[in-house]
This record gives sequence, C-alpha cells and structure tokens, in this order.
Amino acid sequence: MAEHRQNTKTAKALANAVKAFVDEVIIPNESKLALRDQGSLALQMELMQSARRSGLCNLFYPLSHGGKITSLEDYLIVAEQEGRTEFSQDIFGSHTALDAHMLLKFGNETIARQFLEPMVSGNAIPCYGMTEPGHSGSIPSLISTTASLSKGQWRINGKKWFISNADRATFMTVLARTGSEDIPIHHALSMVIVPTNAAGFKIERLLTMMGHSYGQGEVSLTDVQVPEHFLLGICGNGMELMNKRLSLGRVLRAMNWIGLAQRCLDLMGERIHSVRGKFSRLADKQLVRQHMVNAYHAIASARELIRVAARSIDAQAPDEIAINVAKLASSRALCIASDSAIQLHGAEGLSDLTPLFGISRIARSSRILDGNDEALISSIGRRLISFYQREKVYSFD
Ligand SMILES: Cc1cc2nc3c(=O)[nH]c(=O)nc-3n(C[C@H](O)[C@H](O)[C@H](O)COP(=O)(O)OP(=O)(O)OC[C@H]3O[C@@H](n4cnc5c(N)ncnc54)[C@H](O)[C@@H]3O)c2cc1C
Repeated sequence: MAEHRQNTKTAKALANAVKAFVDEVIIPNESKLALRDQGSLALQMELMQSARRSGLCNLFYPLSHGGKITSLEDYLIVAEQEGRTEFSQDIFGSHTALDAHMLLKFGNETIARQFLEPMVSGNAIPCYGMTEPGHSGSIPSLISTTASLSKGQWRINGKKWFISNADRATFMTVLARTGSEDIPIHHALSMVIVPTNAAGFKIERLLTMMGHSYGQGEVSLTDVQVPEHFLLGICGNGMELMNKRLSLGRVLRAMNWIGLAQRCLDLMGERIHSVRGKFSRLADKQLVRQHMVNAYHAIASARELIRVAARSIDAQAPDEIAINVAKLASSRALCIASDSAIQLHGAEGLSDLTPLFGISRIARSSRILDGNDEALISSIGRRLISFYQREKVYSFD
C-alpha cells in the first residue's frame, strides 16, 4: 500500500515536470518541429538531449533499463502530458518504450546488449515491420515475408511498408513466416531482429501520410542474414508476441491520444475567451457549448476506459475487450476534440497558425493504425457474444 502511494507520488511529480517541459520547451517550438527538415531534426535532437538531462526520457522503460514508472495505470497521467504535443514521443523517447519491454521480456542476453542497451542511451532507434504491400495489413495470415533458418543464420526475404521511423531506425523487429503454408498461423510466424545496416535491407521509398512526412517507409529485405539468436521468444510464437505487442501498444497510444485530445479542448477554451471569441460571443452560443461538452465527455470517458485496460495489463491479465474499447474510445475522443477545435478556430484551424491541422492528421490515422476501427469493433462484438454463450450477466468489476 505504502509502495503504491509512493509510486503514485512519483508519477504525479513526473507528470508535472513533463507538463512544464512540454509547455515551456516543446510547444513554443512546434511550428519549427513541424517542418521535418534538417533544421527541425537538429532541433528535435537538441530538445531530446535537454529532456534527457532533465531526467524525463524513457520514463516507461523497464526499471532495470532506466525507466521510472512500473505500473501502466500510474503512467497514464504522465503519458497524457507527454501526448499533449504531437512531437513529444520522439523527444521523450516514449515511442520506444513498447520495444524496450518486448526486447527485455522476449529477447536474450545478446539482444539486450546489442539492441536494448543502446536504446536506453539513445543510440539505437527501433521500428516494427508487420504490414506488407500487396495485401491487407489487418490479416496476419497473409504475411508473406519469410525467415528460414540455415547453418545458424536466419535468411529473410520480403517487403514491409508504412513502417514508422523507417527513415532513422537502427533495427527492425520483423514479423515473418517461419512455418510452411500448412502450419496453422498461430505457429507459423516469428519475430526476428534485423539491423537496418544489414546487407539486403533497403528503404525503397518514403511515404507521406495525408501529405506530411512522418518518416514512414517501404522497405525490402533481400536475402538478409542475421544470427539465429536474433529471434524474439521461440520459433513459431510470432502471433502471440504480435498480440502482446498490440495490447500494450494500443494502451500506450491511447494514453498519448487522450493528452492530444485534451490539448484541443484547452485550445477551444482559449479561443472562446480570446478577443476574437469575445467579439463573436462564442461563450454564449449553445452550439459552441455543445462542442465543449462533446469533447469533454469523450475525453473523460476514454480516460476511465484506459485506466481499466491499464489495470488489466498491470495485473498480468490483459482484458482484450477493455483494451480494444479503450483504443477505440481514445481515438474517437481525439477525432471529436480535434474536429471541434478546428471548427471553433475557423480558417485559422486549417492553417499552420495553430497545431490543429497536424493534430487532425494524427486523429484520422488513429482510426486505422494499430487495428482499424471495424476490425476492433468486430473483435469486441465477437468476444461479448461468445461471453453470453457461457454466462448470463456481464460484470464490469
Ligand atoms: C500512422 C501509421 C503508422 C503505421 N506504422 C506502422 C509500423 O510502424 N509498422 C507496421 O508494420 N505497420 C504500420 N502501419 C500500418 C498499419 O498497421 C496498417 O495500416 C493497419 O494494420 C491496417 O492495414 P492496411 O492499411 O493494410 O488496411 P487493410 O487491412 O487493407 O484494411 C483497410 C480497411 O478495410 C476495412 N477492414 C479491414 N478489416 C476489417 C474487418 N475485420 N471488418 C470490417 N472492415 C475491415 C477497414 O475499413 C480498414 O480500414 C501504420 C499505419 C499508419 C496509418
């Protein structure tokens, strides 16, 4: 109990420090960071070093590797502060926390030394290669990248696309087929680590998202060879690892999105009380009030759903319904809040005079990334219906 109180206190102190850093250091630089040119990448690096010096990087890394928070539920208040700007994930290193946990849990000593430890010191950047061109990314059974083992080496062939951070990653966790077509998919895939400087690893092209470059890339792997022990987990358990990765990843992203949604709500409040807002008497308009209520309602509900999902992961009993509902709710909250905020800002909301257009790109992509809306709804519905095959009353406790 005393330990729990101490952890919560630590999380609160970190959330305050992150909030101050975001408000004072990152937000004033947002328009420069949005350019994503040489200058902005140098600025991002500078801010990253500053965050590192302030002890605010990699906060949700495993404790053994520099992290400061163990419980996902405690991390919520920190992650939402990190999430208030679309640029903070790189600066605080939070986008790499998921890989850090995966490598520690399923990697061996060599993987920890060669990939995890350099991540802790900021000298390695991970990316994740699951989605492939040519067929639906939502159906893992279609994965056609192969990894075959011969004389102690994995030989990997295939293509991946829409890979975040492909432009600067130093290694990729590749989801590949290691079993033949007749093996059930639950035993046919594996995860293998591939350094991006391996012979045969090539960035074919960079892809923009809604006209903006986020470093997404299409990558080909041609006879890439890596040692046998670059395998995560055991051979054939790639689907299981993929589901574990998705569960934690969805909750971490949902936490960031809720922070971004709250930023939109705060910007709406600022606009309503601005000189222009007062001219138009926005505070007196019922439809404006409705925008505020819709955004508040969506954010507050999603926050509680995230808490439930986080608690289930903390308890080592991930509740897939809660996790998927939390991801859906958070994405919806961000879509509602960013759309309302753009509306209340008029033409300025669509311009680069506010951060809202950039946020709306993140909002739109949140409905596709890490499990599209329809697939999640379908999975939640299927699980609920199958629950009622066995039971009569669902318990929310
Ligand atoms: C910003 C961003 C970053 C990404 N980063 C990465 C990354 O780092 N690594 C990586 O491997 N991939 C990444 N992706 C790719 C992402 O994982 C895929 O886009 C996602 O899995 C969906 O696959 P798809 O795009 O092939 O769409 P598809 O699977 O072809 O689906 C297209 C549409 O079909 C419909 N649909 C699909 N399934 C169902 C269903 N079960 N029921 C009803 N309708 C359905 C939905 O409307 C869906 O949006 C990223 C994507 C985005 C947008």
